[in-house]
Amino acid sequence: MRIRKLSALFWSTCILALIVILYVTTDLSFKLPSIRPAYQEVDENKWSSVESKLQHIEKELNQHNVVVGEIKSAFDQVVDRSHFQAPPPPRPQTERKKDYVKSEPKDYDKHFNDVNYDEDKKYSYKDIKVVGEEPPKRITVKFDQMTCPVKKDGPLQTEVQMLSLYDRMSFDDKDGGVWKQGWNVEYNEQQWNSKNKLKVFIVPHSHNDPGWIKTFENYYKTQTRAIFTNMVEKLAEKPGRKFIWCEISYLALWWTMDATDQDKAAFKSLLNSGNLEIVTGGWVMNDEASSHWMAIIQQLSTGHQWLLDKFNYIPKNAWSIDPFGYSSAQPYLLKLAGFENSVIQRVHYIVKKELALNRQLEFKWRQLWDGKGVTDMFTHMMPFYSYDVPHTCGPDPKICCQFDFKRLPGNGVTCPWGVPPVKITEKNIHDRAFMILDQWRKKSQLYRSNVLMVPLGDDFRYDRANEWDNQYLNYEMLIDYINSNVEYNAEVQFGTLQDYFKALHDDVKLSDFPTLSGDFFTYADRNQHYWSGYFTSRPFYKNMDRVLLAYVRAADSVMVQAISSGLVSKVLELQLRDRMTQARNSLSLFQHHDGITGTCRDEVREDYAKKLLTAIKHAQSAIQQASYLLLQKPQIVDQTQKDIFFDVDDIWRKHDEIPSRITIALDAVSPSRRVVLYNALAFKRTEILTLIVSSPHVEVYDPEGNPLMAQVSPIVAGERRLGFAASKFQLSFPVSVLPLAAVGYTVSLRDSSAINKYTSYARVRIYNADYWNVDLPKMFAVEQVQGRLSEDVSFKLGNTGVVADMKGLLKSISTDGKPVPIHMDYVHYDSKKEHDNNSGGYLFVPSGPAAPFTPEPYPELVITEGIHKSTLYTSLIGPKKAEVILSISINNNPSLPQSEIEIGNTFLIDPASDNLELAMRFSTNIQNGDVFYTDLNGMQMIKRRYFEKLPIQANYYPLPAAAYIEDDNTRFTILTSTPLGMAALQPGQMEVMQDRRLSRDDNRGMNQGVQDNVRTRHTFRLVLESANSPCQNKTHPENPSGQLTLGTHVSQQMLLQPIITMHYTAQDDGSRPVFSRPITNAADVVLGSFRPHVISKTKDDKKVQGVGMTFQRVYLDVCYGNKDIAKWYPVGDGQVQLSEYLDVTSSQIYESTLTFNRIRNPIPNGVLTLCPMEIRSVFVNHTLKHD
Ligand SMILES: [Zn+2]
Repeated sequence: MRIRKLSALFWSTCILALIVILYVTTDLSFKLPSIRPAYQEVDENKWSSVESKLQHIEKELNQHNVVVGEIKSAFDQVVDRSHFQAPPPPRPQTERKKDYVKSEPKDYDKHFNDVNYDEDKKYSYKDIKVVGEEPPKRITVKFDQMTCPVKKDGPLQTEVQMLSLYDRMSFDDKDGGVWKQGWNVEYNEQQWNSKNKLKVFIVPHSHNDPGWIKTFENYYKTQTRAIFTNMVEKLAEKPGRKFIWCEISYLALWWTMDATDQDKAAFKSLLNSGNLEIVTGGWVMNDEASSHWMAIIQQLSTGHQWLLDKFNYIPKNAWSIDPFGYSSAQPYLLKLAGFENSVIQRVHYIVKKELALNRQLEFKWRQLWDGKGVTDMFTHMMPFYSYDVPHTCGPDPKICCQFDFKRLPGNGVTCPWGVPPVKITEKNIHDRAFMILDQWRKKSQLYRSNVLMVPLGDDFRYDRANEWDNQYLNYEMLIDYINSNVEYNAEVQFGTLQDYFKALHDDVKLSDFPTLSGDFFTYADRNQHYWSGYFTSRPFYKNMDRVLLAYVRAADSVMVQAISSGLVSKVLELQLRDRMTQARNSLSLFQHHDGITGTCRDEVREDYAKKLLTAIKHAQSAIQQASYLLLQKPQIVDQTQKDIFFDVDDIWRKHDEIPSRITIALDAVSPSRRVVLYNALAFKRTEILTLIVSSPHVEVYDPEGNPLMAQVSPIVAGERRLGFAASKFQLSFPVSVLPLAAVGYTVSLRDSSAINKYTSYARVRIYNADYWNVDLPKMFAVEQVQGRLSEDVSFKLGNTGVVADMKGLLKSISTDGKPVPIHMDYVHYDSKKEHDNNSGGYLFVPSGPAAPFTPEPYPELVITEGIHKSTLYTSLIGPKKAEVILSISINNNPSLPQSEIEIGNTFLIDPASDNLELAMRFSTNIQNGDVFYTDLNGMQMIKRRYFEKLPIQANYYPLPAAAYIEDDNTRFTILTSTPLGMAALQPGQMEVMQDRRLSRDDNRGMNQGVQDNVRTRHTFRLVLESANSPCQNKTHPENPSGQLTLGTHVSQQMLLQPIITMHYTAQDDGSRPVFSRPITNAADVVLGSFRPHVISKTKDDKKVQGVGMTFQRVYLDVCYGNKDIAKWYPVGDGQVQLSEYLDVTSSQIYESTLTFNRIRNPIPNGVLTLCPMEIRSVFVNHTLKHD
């Protein structure tokens, strides 16, 4: 009986399998052009009959799904019991169909609406997934979001709010006497007695820039190496000696290159004894204006991972003394990384004075959105002009300089105040001791405690043995003398930050310190010298930074998936790890405050750029290799020696040249090519992708072989003059890629004489170029307008329209026919040319308001219009000023129904120009008054105001990613591909600096101007959004934070992390069309990092290896923007089920510090909960298990 039943099952399975095979082959033969020549003419009727046939089979197959499933399991049992070797039956394909955008030629818009996005937020490709056969069941945990700290319905209750402080302060630069930027500090000696002594911690330090005047390696060879070798010797000579070290890039170099076993042992022993403290422990001391928060995490964790690996060491106190202004994103990251205290220095001198007057130089730095005080980071701000010795012992630099014993006569460094130090002797010690004690006492009046920090160091200090002797021996005499004289009531010692902060917190309760919110931009060190030039300096490399960041993120996430799927051999895994270590180290190095800032000498900039270039190539290589493996058939671990499978479609040939694209060459021999797309975002994205193809006769197929409606346009190219590229065309089509998924789309050649309803050709309009001999294939409808253009031009796509003036500059953007004026201009600033008062790498010192950039009249202007993408191109040449190729595009992205246009600026400042700073300006009638918003490190938005009392350069702020202005009706947002400087100098206006060329040095040490400008390309997205009123959740007018909307957040994420397009290097080998994981689609979750090979430290001090992940949940503004966007990009509930990302059981998942160096609590049920604005890291370990 049983046998008969099984046999019946077997036969019905065979019949069904036959049906499926028939279906599949029919499917393939009609849809996959690689099998069937693409030339064949297919008439309308044939297509519809094929389609109805397919629909029929599909419907039938749907009905049989359940039966097939049952049969399959029965069949599997038979196979299992009888060890019957037979190929597994094909699996049903209907599940995944709905998720892919299919093209209906007759009703183009309809198919987008048909996509079933809301029914189930989870997507799975069960039948082709390598790992985790069953998508994990989504677990929800108890998560009371009411406990979240986000607050926007009122002002933030901090004692100091920086924007309010700016409003209150007069910014008078009064001469304060010896402390020029302060006042004459006095004190009452009675405040100290034998029970209440002044405790002084002298903190020796050496500030080592990993590249500035010399390259990183050159500094190491000539200076830093000697600092280490002297350190291990001199620090151990006497028990009380202390030192702090910051830059791990240098330490790692010394450790691998030169440190002897003896050095290493000595170094470790100094660390263990607490004589040496590693502070911050980042790879570098990162810039805080232009760096992206994800890159800051990379640079911090690069250092932290190294420290854990080599010393089992976790830094506790942060030290950021040289970055040119401070972002409040940094203390949040430090807090998450487990830091308790931090030190900062370069803050506007008038802000310092104001805080010092109120003894607020030590404060709890609170996040702008934190209504509960859970994010506070204890911060110490240095009070004076600099971190060098003359400005750290007390208010009088002339006195303090005499206690910098490196400057003892004969050592090559002098005191600019005219009085050199003298060696401490028995004879002079009484006077000398009192002189410095007096300074320390005065300095202590600026703080709330009896504990005083006195840094003792400068740039690249302690590189010579005699400097160690001079500093330590002289100070040791002073220390002994003061400590032994009871009437001084002082207790002096060398200390680390840990020593200082411990004593401080023992002395004063944390609750007695003020809270502060806001940031410290824009920095000025003296006069009207605002450091807002560096927000833009060398923008080509700032852009390169973002490109590399995107590649590192993508490479990490694709590698972790390939490795954890068991698809990577051990040898290859190590190769990939090494390549990514190199890429990460270069990205981290560039976060240095003379790297991404553009404030180094030309040869150093070149060195960074070459490192970035290599890093991009390494990351691209890891991406293509790992993605290839992910797309391989299961169970095949690739053992071949081949390691290039794909070319990433972004070819960086030189370190200072805009990258180029790959042209897909199609011909009779190779009529069809598949491209693989990888989405490194943690949510599903749909957008218009553009490829370059060699022929206009092409068609596109989605991963399932369905034809897609595609647009072919001519390529408008050129650097000064526009023209059409020969034998190259743009191919644009909509793509959808699931979170962390790789998918293949196919581009095929088709018969040029056939009518193809899936390919649409752009219409072309040409102005001011009636002399052109246009030679485009005949399917492009070309209108070459005769004579000179004397009126506005316009074009429209979907709901969005653009009107541009005769030069092609934007005049308005319309939504549903309603125009909103947005006037675009280029303007330029000239530098002041006074003594010690001019623009340079760091400073922006304009001679006055900007002047209009007036290009030559009647520029060549081309508009290409199609169903997916329409673009206006214009070439604006201003002799002795700049040349700009401007493009304005509308992408008809169905998933982002918002008024969005993309601006492409490709420009070169004319080498003949002397001191020119070029900005792009938008003027609108938005009634924003003086209020505007910019982002901090791409992490959060901060409210800013234009202050008339401040000069133009003070009103310039960093623009790492986004800025907006708004009124009751409209919000206007600018998203940028490149971190730059921006300002809102007039109501309704925003401007973004594009590049700067400056012939003069600005006296901050570079000793040169910035004249190495290269042709650069920035991409901006402009988004206009209407207010949704009434809106319940409006931000209180006095709240200092801002938020992007869902639409602008999604667009910004896409701009930051473009889809990675890859081409097969050889013939397509028939790998799978899709790799994906069943990740819940939540567009408000940002995957900050997802990487293999991290190490962590358990509670019982064991080191373990695993996978690290960092998530951010953004907080979005719902009072503006199109609510329909949420249908495509649903927001989540703050719960991230980690088994969706990785095949792990919940018992293997732990919360960790931001940089993964310490394991914290187990994550119950493997579900991470995130409050809005929260960032959290997790560590996954396969051997470690909790209950
Ligand atoms: Zn520095």
